[in-house]
Amino acid sequence: MPIDPRDIEICLGSDDAASVAPPIEQSAIFPKASLRELLDGLAAEHIHHVYTRGQNPTVEVLERQIANLERAEACKCFGSGMAAISAVMLGLLQSGDHVLFVNQVYGPTLQLARHLERFGIAHEVVLDLNLTSIERSIRPSTRLIWFESPGTMLFRTLDIEGLTALAREHQITTAMDNSWATPLFQKPITMGVDLVMHACSKYLAGHSDVIAGALAGSRALLERIFYRAFLLNGGVLHPFDAWLVNRGLKTLPARMRQLRDDALVVASWLRDHPAVARVHHPGGVNGYDAANCSGLFAFELADARFSAVERVIDRLRLFRTAVSWGGTESLVVTPNRGHNEEDLRAQDVSPGLIRLSVGLEGATALCQDLDDALKHD
Ligand SMILES: *Cc1c(COP(=O)(O)O)cnc(C)c1O
Repeated sequence: MPIDPRDIEICLGSDDAASVAPPIEQSAIFPKASLRELLDGLAAEHIHHVYTRGQNPTVEVLERQIANLERAEACKCFGSGMAAISAVMLGLLQSGDHVLFVNQVYGPTLQLARHLERFGIAHEVVLDLNLTSIERSIRPSTRLIWFESPGTMLFRTLDIEGLTALAREHQITTAMDNSWATPLFQKPITMGVDLVMHACSKYLAGHSDVIAGALAGSRALLERIFYRAFLLNGGVLHPFDAWLVNRGLKTLPARMRQLRDDALVVASWLRDHPAVARVHHPGGVNGYDAANCSGLFAFELADARFSAVERVIDRLRLFRTAVSWGGTESLVVTPNRGHNEEDLRAQDVSPGLIRLSVGLEGATALCQDLDDALKHD
């Protein structure tokens, strides 16, 4: 599927006739002409500019863009991806509820779920992506199914439409972390997902210089999250950071095209390398279209010892060693900490796993860098 021309227009902000970049409204408060007007604003802070912990005009520009890209009614931005995830959990769940996590999900999301046990919220992780197995894990108390597709580290995809149909049957809300695909390559709302979450810190901002998060979904669901969690947790996105994400969006289609194409070249080059046991890239697997892939994937070394992983990572030059992903620079990391092999195997992850975030250096240079690092001498 080529990138939808409408999405390119949304990213460029073509509907704003007044300016190409939105003004940065760096103000904490928005005074009103009368007490009546202030009271009206306070009665509906999710749509009025009263205090920047609630709404801010610059942040709202970005929220409209993300809602449009996701084909959602509404969007709320947050000070980080984790603030958005926390707001979903705290806004929609209560003591006695159960959350089902499907597929490998972002580590801190699960850490949050473990902390929520203290408040009587239970959870379970399903790694068998067969719909029958997923249905078996649904309990009468399951209120939320949270998932990623492709999932963290192994990039396994699941039948999103099948999963959302199953959830609707059981009257369970679905929430999906769509940071990997971006709305250009996957639009979960159109597949029946209720809430879409983005770590805008990654591809949407795209330059490793801002931390931001977003939720897209129905007005009703987002209003509930706004009053029960967002306004009270205080995980607010600053106007300047919203402006940076807005600027990042302008080049999102161009960046994603290059990242996708280069990652496909690097992945297929790695598949043929004798030091590589396996490549985890979702392109063409289980019917997932290679044209809808981003630049983040992983591979396994044939020699899965920590010392071998460390040696390869330390020899890479263009791939810089860092957490996070989605910027212009290529990055490398491993879930292997040198002492957690058992934990990794329990999650079906090989200790020889190395994750790459392909940047804009060009596929030829990146393959050369990998070739140098994988050489035995
Ligand atoms: C980084 C990340 C998050 C969290 O986003 P932050 O902005 O770092 O809080 C959530 N999900 C995925 C898949 C991520 O990679």
